Amino acid sequence: MNETKMGEGEEKKSLNFIEAFVEKDLAEGKNNGRVQTRFPPEPNGYLHIGHAKAICLDFGIAERYNGICNLRFDDTNPVKEDVEYVDSIMQDIQWLGYNWNKVVYASDYFQQLFDFAVQLIREGKAYVDEQSAEEIARQKGTPTQPGTESPYRNRPVEENLNLFYRMQEGELTEGSMVLRAKIDMASPNMHFRDPIMYRIIDHPHHRTGTKWKVYPMYDFAHGQSDYFEGVTHSLCTLEFEVHRPLYDYFIDLLKKDDSYRPRQIEFNRLNLTYTVMSKRKLLQLVKEGRVNGWDDPRMPTIVGFRRRGYTPTAIRNFIDKIGYTKYDGIVDVALLEHAVREDLNAIAPRVSAVINPVKLIITNYPEDRIEMMETVNNPEDPSAGTHDMAFTRELYIEREDFMEDAPKKFYRMTPGQEVRLRCAYIVKCTGVKKNDAGEIEEIYAEYDPMTKSGMPDSNRKVKGTLHWVSAKYSLPAEVRLYDRLFMVENPAEEKEKDFLELLNPDSLTVLTNCRVEMELKHAKPYDNFQFQRIGYFNVDPDSNEDKLVFNRTVSLKDTWSKVKDKN
Ligand code: ATP
Ligand code: MG
Repeated sequence: MNETKMGEGEEKKSLNFIEAFVEKDLAEGKNNGRVQTRFPPEPNGYLHIGHAKAICLDFGIAERYNGICNLRFDDTNPVKEDVEYVDSIMQDIQWLGYNWNKVVYASDYFQQLFDFAVQLIREGKAYVDEQSAEEIARQKGTPTQPGTESPYRNRPVEENLNLFYRMQEGELTEGSMVLRAKIDMASPNMHFRDPIMYRIIDHPHHRTGTKWKVYPMYDFAHGQSDYFEGVTHSLCTLEFEVHRPLYDYFIDLLKKDDSYRPRQIEFNRLNLTYTVMSKRKLLQLVKEGRVNGWDDPRMPTIVGFRRRGYTPTAIRNFIDKIGYTKYDGIVDVALLEHAVREDLNAIAPRVSAVINPVKLIITNYPEDRIEMMETVNNPEDPSAGTHDMAFTRELYIEREDFMEDAPKKFYRMTPGQEVRLRCAYIVKCTGVKKNDAGEIEEIYAEYDPMTKSGMPDSNRKVKGTLHWVSAKYSLPAEVRLYDRLFMVENPAEEKEKDFLELLNPDSLTVLTNCRVEMELKHAKPYDNFQFQRIGYFNVDPDSNEDKLVFNRTVSLKDTWSKVKDKN
């Protein structure tokens, strides 16, 4: 398969720089025309939206060029890794809509990597260093000053072999010695200054148990794993650019001929405003209870976004829009929200919910009467049909939609002013009842029977339209409103303060007395809705028989248009 396949009707977009690389390789007949990628997460945390960017690229490139993409767990540090993370990572990838060719593990290659290390020792290209990590670090030098050679650098091959086997046999303690590549302590590339290949870790591994006592470092595992597996294009983030010469160095020593070699290509990481994206920091938020778990809807994790009501389509569209470049930057989270709104606008059924209710009594409406009012499910999608809402004498409306002494431009409910109740009647407020504290308990209004749809005065124009639910025919609900998790635009850049001090104390507001229309009775966890006039919401899995719980996915208003104007 040597050419780009464009499905019919698929938009012709210009290639991103990675696609251009791949097409050039294909045109030159490299790797026998094969395209193979991998997505290589370390199973030490849940995936975040930054990972989604890598996933879309790794799986997307394979799909586009009829290649394959493996899911490869980079499980070279048993201390931080866990099967819980392995499972969640697989679910997240599938939820995003991708499928791997097969699941593989860096640990699948432990034997081959060990054998390769032995080969390098035999060839005089690796040695066992008995210095401490601190001593080794001290001898590294600086980019402008060469490093110092270790006193163990030139020990005989046999001694190195013997010590390396002993490291693996478990008789030596962690940190007592490491295996280093013997390259060049004066290299301008710091990664070439005798990098560590293996260290001793005395901790059971989630797959290999206690078989291994030595574990390969990233630089000695990644490229070789790519090679063993047949990866042609190893796509990773920009911070690995400086590792690429070392990646190539080991592959050159490993490859058998010129018919195949993997190639590393770097792209920019995704950073989002008002968010942290490092797994270490996200883990800390979870461990310290700053959020309610990895799937807290305020988290930038895939499980968090899913719980919040973001859709895979929205996330993929967002990633498509931001693209892949060679420059690191920070993306406005409003752009992500824009993509979510755009998708939900197309698919979310419209329903009525009153999140801060006050009772409205239509005094001239018969007490025992119920009318079913037809409402359109989605004006963007006629095939979505309609549903009915019960209209009764006692209703709930939003407290914010009423003002006793309203300014001139307040077009909602105020004494003497007509407003329309959505898909029902025009009503006029006639008075209120207050409690001893002066708070409004009930609002009274009269309706005009001629203003219902189909009636003579149905087209009468009034300035305000309010949403409502029937007091009797509605369900109790809890609504969780989310705001930014961090108060500053780029928490990672605030060096003075610990990132925990930058958390927004008001990132979660829980409203417990909400009412939603009966139509939601059978709503299932994760179902998306638009609450008319309020925003997009989804059903939280905390819902139960007695009470529905909703998350605000995103507000209705598009703040992104403002952002665009600024640019
Ligand atoms: P973190 O720095 O958040 O802990 P990581 O890079 O250590 O993440 P890995 O599990 O090693 O996480 O990452 C798997 C893949 O996802 C790598 O190829 C990595 O380059 C990519 N990746 C990680 N974070 C981002 C990001 N913010 N944007 C794009 N790709 C990312
Ligand atoms: Mg990593």
